[in-house]
Amino acid sequence: MKKLLPDYEFGSYADVTPAFLGSIGCRFLIADIDNTLAPYEQPLPDEGNLAWLGSLSGAGISVALVSNNGRERVELFSRGLGIPAFWDCRKPSRRFIRTAMEALGADPASTVYLGDQIFTDVYAAKRSGIRAIKLPPIRDKKTLFFRIKRLLERPVMRRYRRLHGAGIPGGTDGPEVTGGREGSGGADSRDGKCD
Ligand SMILES: [Mg+2]
Repeated sequence: MKKLLPDYEFGSYADVTPAFLGSIGCRFLIADIDNTLAPYEQPLPDEGNLAWLGSLSGAGISVALVSNNGRERVELFSRGLGIPAFWDCRKPSRRFIRTAMEALGADPASTVYLGDQIFTDVYAAKRSGIRAIKLPPIRDKKTLFFRIKRLLERPVMRRYRRLHGAGIPGGTDGPEVTGGREGSGGADSRDGKCD
């Protein structure tokens, strides 16, 4: 279970600020795309994505994208961003996380991963020896496969929340909070609703 546990939980990528990343010694961020930065049906970065990426760049934090989605989706989304982006990454494979780190010139201690899924994103990051931030999915697919995956994530996140502070609201079983913070339990209640 240890390699499934994220190090931090936030309610949205926008809450993962340059100030926070700087405070944990992060100079390189590797991010998932689908349901982390944008829902599946959003083909291009929106203003929020661009503002956030700009703020990271301004703070000297280098970003790469690693997606399990296909070339067309990833090329379209990343075109014009000027950052490394990789498709068909087959997370939880470590391969493209390693490739992305090489592209950024990143070292494990200064690299943090950002994603919405435990069994692909968090696991890929942890077995690559880097820290992981877990976000709730922006908008989950309603397929049975995804519902089962989210159901299986629940005990992992319950354990995360026990480790990072029991009784703090915002967990799957608690009242919703907006704007997760480190170890807070975060605003992950959407996981509960899609089950
Ligand atoms: Mg995702």
